[in-house]
Amino acid sequence: MTHVVTRACCNDASCVAVCPVNCIHPTPDEPDYGTAEMLYIDPAGCVDCGACVEVCPVGAISADYDLTDEQIPFEELNARWFDGPGRRDYPQEQQVARVREWAGGDLRVAVVGSGPAACYAAEELLAQRGLDVRVDMFERLPTPGGLVRFGVAPDHQDTKDATRAFANTMRRKGFRLFLNTEIGSDLRIDELRERYHAVVVAVGALTDRPLGIPGEDLPGSHSATEFVGWYNGHPDFAHRTFDLSGERAVVIGNGNVALDVARILTADPERLAKTDIADPALAQLRSSSVREVVVVGRRGPVQAAFTTKELLGLARTPGADLVVRPEELPEPDGESKIDLLAELAGRRPSADRRVALRFLAAPTEITGDGWVEGVRLCRTRLVADNGVVRAIPTDDFEELACGLVFRSVGYRGSPLPGLPFDDRRGVIPNDAGRVAVPGVYATGWIKRGPSGVIGTNRKCARDTVGALLDDFREGRLPAPAEAGDIADVLPRHIDLGGWRRINDHEVDAGRRQRRPRVKLVDVAEMLAVARQDG
Ligand code: NAP
Repeated sequence: MTHVVTRACCNDASCVAVCPVNCIHPTPDEPDYGTAEMLYIDPAGCVDCGACVEVCPVGAISADYDLTDEQIPFEELNARWFDGPGRRDYPQEQQVARVREWAGGDLRVAVVGSGPAACYAAEELLAQRGLDVRVDMFERLPTPGGLVRFGVAPDHQDTKDATRAFANTMRRKGFRLFLNTEIGSDLRIDELRERYHAVVVAVGALTDRPLGIPGEDLPGSHSATEFVGWYNGHPDFAHRTFDLSGERAVVIGNGNVALDVARILTADPERLAKTDIADPALAQLRSSSVREVVVVGRRGPVQAAFTTKELLGLARTPGADLVVRPEELPEPDGESKIDLLAELAGRRPSADRRVALRFLAAPTEITGDGWVEGVRLCRTRLVADNGVVRAIPTDDFEELACGLVFRSVGYRGSPLPGLPFDDRRGVIPNDAGRVAVPGVYATGWIKRGPSGVIGTNRKCARDTVGALLDDFREGRLPAPAEAGDIADVLPRHIDLGGWRRINDHEVDAGRRQRRPRVKLVDVAEMLAVARQDG
């Protein structure tokens, strides 16, 4: 008997800290951690204690006898990871959490943003022993959660369970929440710096990277960011409309966001109706005519940005076939992703909807006369260049007709007034989290760019908070001015009580419809609910 990590793995490594035999890898201290698609349990090392099951924030770990049909392939995926060179050479000892002991003192920190990076930073700060830490968290919207609420797809409810751990952080002594408060307009960064020892910026990366090809701005060509925000009820996007009257849509880029978009477009709306998908999106998807979504990657299957666990999830989504062209695949080589793609290439399609994965095809133009009519693709060949495999265009072109295009080529951070910004990378330049403005730190996607999954932000926040605490201990963070309670200068803010009223309202509405929640998607409505009894 052994335990198995499955699709929902958030990589936050809570399980690593409690494993008595250190059989869950890679740990945040191991070199593979930064690039790991998920964490894996070594079946040869697991002693079946179940400690990891108890602490996993997203319920991703199951005993092998409890695996559902969809989870069974993960047993092999876990075991296979340890076949890599040196991967069984780990010491049989427990990892310990890094909480420092302090001999008194008080530390006031402002955290800007309320997504996973922000919440992990707050947790690291508030877990210190012997130090009176107070954390004020600021968020532009009336709801906290960032990408957990507005990025994770509605049919991945297990992944959203991470919010339970974040809710526990928000219950900690010393924590306050200031929603409906935009840093940069309601308050300047300088004003925060005056009032706190330190400011941790965790605003994520919310805009999309441009593709830079003709036709990108044609009506019918959208960023994946808009579509994801739309189906997740982000107030900035919830009332967009997408013309779903054509049979084929094309998604450019093949990361996990591209797979999310393809899965939602081909999902059975009645299955989505059981999730917390935004109601305006569900209504449009119910009358969608889209039958085929083509996901286009400019490089080959080996370089594809989607993870094996998400590919497995898509391959097992009921009601839609996953189609792969055998001629675009390399020989099966024992790597899980390629073996799975080869198996898919041999399957006979049976559903009336499908997701087609295409490789070695780079978009050169989005075509159409006033509206998207197709995508011009250029066949590519792969060339190794200084350890990176690049896609080089050939003379071979293809026209792929479609009525809708989603550009899913990565997120991008935006500048925050008063702070430096690296326009090329879309991040706040920093040295291990330290920004070149005294007392200001960065964590999450605005620190390192849009990579990794929810739990990757835990190590990132731990490193940033580690730098902050070192600076505090060394006396490099002067005491803030006594400027009174910041709540008094933010009369419009919504506090934790207000958020709880919004949450209760959504969950109650969901209970009546047998859904996890029914999301409010209008800021005015959220504010009205938050202020009802407050
Ligand atoms: P991503 O993983 O960086 O993928 C971006 C994709 O865009 C790649 O396929 C990339 O191809 C392609 N691309 C970039 N520039 C292009 C161009 N000019 N022309 C054509 N293709 C281009 O980004 P993402 O999908 O937005 O995901 C962001 C992060 O969130 C990732 O870490 C992802 O794993 C995570 N995420 C995770 C989940 C999950 O675990 N369920 C769900 C959603 C997102 P190249 O590889 O050739 O550059």
